[in-house]
Amino acid sequence: MTIAENIEKIMGQIPASVRLVAVTKTKSVTAIKEAYDYGIRDFAESRVQEALLKQEYLQDYQDICWHFIGHIQTNKAKKVLESFHWIHSVDSLKLAESLDKLAAKTSISPHVCLQVKLLPDPNKYGWDVIELWQDLPKLESLKNLKIDGLMTILPLGLSKNECLDTFAKTKELAIKITENSSLQLKELSMGMSNDYLLAVEKGATMIRLGTIIFGERD
Ligand SMILES: *Cc1c(COP(=O)(O)O)cnc(C)c1O
Repeated sequence: MTIAENIEKIMGQIPASVRLVAVTKTKSVTAIKEAYDYGIRDFAESRVQEALLKQEYLQDYQDICWHFIGHIQTNKAKKVLESFHWIHSVDSLKLAESLDKLAAKTSISPHVCLQVKLLPDPNKYGWDVIELWQDLPKLESLKNLKIDGLMTILPLGLSKNECLDTFAKTKELAIKITENSSLQLKELSMGMSNDYLLAVEKGATMIRLGTIIFGERD
C-alpha cells in the first residue's frame, strides 16, 4: 500500500472532525511531501534536531501545522516553542512553567496538551491523576500558554477493553478539569497506529499516526 492509499483508508474510518496528525519521525521529507500532496497538513515530530532540519527543507509548505510530541529537555524548550504550533508533550509543571516564561518573552503563545498517565507506566513521562489535580492551580496561572487538552499514550499490552476504558477515563478527566477549573480542555490527543479506532470511539479529537501511514520505522 502506498502512503496515499493508507491515508485514504484511514480517512474513511474516522469522522471528519478528528484531526489526523501524521507522525514523521525517522521518515524522509519525500514521505512528508507525499502525505501533504494527499491533503495532510498536520505533521508531528518527536526530536527537535531532526524536525528543524526537515522544516528547513519544507519552508515553502507554509500551511503545514507542526506538532511536537516528544519529551522536551529544558534547554530545547525555546526551539520547540519557536518551531511548533502545537506541543502535545507538556509532561511536567516545571516544563509548563518554563514554556510559559518563554512564551511571555517571545510573544509566541503555543497550543499545548498536558500529557497524562491514567495507568501507571514507568516508561512514560506525564502526570498521574493525583499529581495533575495538585498542580492544577499553578497550571491555571500560566496565562501565556493555550492549555487546550490532554494527551495520553497507553502502556503496552492492554486488552481492547482496557484500552477503551483508559481512553474513556482520559476524556472524563478532561471534562472534570474543565468543570472545576478555568482550563478548557476540549482536545484529546490519543490514539496511535494500533489503537486509534478505539481512541476515536472514546472521543479522541487528534490521533497521532506514524506506522500505519508510512510503514515501520527503521
Ligand atoms: C511515534 C509516536 C506516535 C506514532 O506511533 P505509531 O505507532 O507509529 O503510529 C504517536 N505518538 C507519539 C507520542 C509517538 O512518539
